[in-house]
Amino acid sequence: MSTYDLIVIGAGPGGYVCAIRAAQLGLKVACVEGREALGGTCLNVGCIPSKALLHASHMLHESHENFDKMGLTGSRIKVDWAKMQGYKSETVSTNTKGIEFLFKKNKIDWLKGWASIESAGRVKVGDTVHDAKNIVIATGSSPAPLKGVEVDNDAGLIVDSTGALSLPKIPKSMVVIGAGVIGLELGSVYARLGAEVTVVEYLDVITPGMDGEVQKQFQKILSKQGLKFILGAAVKGAEAVKGKTRLTYALKKDDSEHALEADCVLVATGRRPHIEGLGLDNLGVELTDRGFVKIDEHWTTNVKGIYAIGDCVPGPMLAHKAEDEGMAVAEIIAGKHGHVNYDVIPGVIYTTPEVANVGLTEEAAKETGRKIKIGKFPFMGNARAKAMMQPEGFVKLIADAETDRILGCHIIGPNAGEMIHEICVAMEFGASAEDIALTCHAHPTTSEAVREAALACGDGAIHV
Ligand code: FAD
Repeated sequence: MSTYDLIVIGAGPGGYVCAIRAAQLGLKVACVEGREALGGTCLNVGCIPSKALLHASHMLHESHENFDKMGLTGSRIKVDWAKMQGYKSETVSTNTKGIEFLFKKNKIDWLKGWASIESAGRVKVGDTVHDAKNIVIATGSSPAPLKGVEVDNDAGLIVDSTGALSLPKIPKSMVVIGAGVIGLELGSVYARLGAEVTVVEYLDVITPGMDGEVQKQFQKILSKQGLKFILGAAVKGAEAVKGKTRLTYALKKDDSEHALEADCVLVATGRRPHIEGLGLDNLGVELTDRGFVKIDEHWTTNVKGIYAIGDCVPGPMLAHKAEDEGMAVAEIIAGKHGHVNYDVIPGVIYTTPEVANVGLTEEAAKETGRKIKIGKFPFMGNARAKAMMQPEGFVKLIADAETDRILGCHIIGPNAGEMIHEICVAMEFGASAEDIALTCHAHPTTSEAVREAALACGDGAIHV
């Protein structure tokens, strides 16, 4: 039996970052992980493998759609699915091994196995109980089930996001249930690889919670890329019969029932906190009514010495949110100050074009009752985007009409996921739109579109 200052349960982006920061601050740290590899959902079956497939399928799409236009001619590129899967797995394993290296470097013990908490200060892994002054629960989330739809990832017919990353073959047709980030990213992958993709969504809009103007433009662009959308549709069930799937749904507007057949159904209707087996009931750790671990502003549960972070606590289910919480709680446990600014957490969808946002949407900003101004700039006016053959989309900057302070930014266009950070930093510094407008931006870059949107909040953009 060993005694630790801190045992972190779960080695996803929340847990492993927490463990590393705590070790850097001089604590004796162990991290329990039941998977074969470190890195959690994000590295193993989430952010990283999905981005590998998005990258490869984007390259294929470029080669088919744009290479010829740029004078790059030659025989048509074909997909070797097994090789693409190999590239994806290699990308995953170099990253997960990287975390193993960082654990060794920081002298963090990886306790292999599934943990339960015996009592505050005692964590059981296998048959061994380890003592810890502090425990951080960072056990993440898993795909939420959908009534009437039974997922069988091994069969590869009705799958969740984990199954969709490793389908045995590229389906000719796919139905995606849920028009959220994960459904649209993976739907885009298979659409680019040649599948006919239909997205069925319960709400009347895609990507719920995003800025309305962006939602519309995004749907238009994805439709042009071949994705079909059935919105306002309640899925009743899906079944797999003789190597095919059949999905039934009812349209909310008139209750009419319909069916769709496809080679594969992807259930992407959200994720739920993963806390099974931890023994939280016995400990009396309080949960929210949606089943997340309840915490205060210092990520402390109602049981002293037990903290929780990441996807298993309320807030956006994002790797970088989990990482920030991991660092902050490690600082607090080490007796320092940890802080996360939940008003400045960017969100990115890694489709082509990318979609990125931070801060308030136009709708949410108006709801606050304050006067706002909006500066918009289309990528059509950006030379670099045109050279990249990605002139669709825009930058939309929202600022307070009286103070000019930036309240939010929404970008749909090339490099959106990188460009958004300029606004994140600006918001952290309480910057005004004019601060961005007065900052020299290199030419030709897609970031110039951010500056132009800021100029549009004042006397006007130049290139429109
Ligand atoms: P997790 O990453 O889920 O890690 C928790 C770990 O705890 C797991 O490894 C689990 O095995 C382990 N664990 C659970 N219970 C126990 C136990 N009792 N004992 C031991 N170990 C345990 N987010 C982004 O920000 N960007 C993206 O591009 C993005 N893409 C995504 C794509 C997909 C397909 C999916 C599914 C998710 C994506 N996400 C993305 C979300 C992101 O993966 C999560 O927000 C992030 O992984 C949450 O981190 P976490 O540390 O809270 O939990």
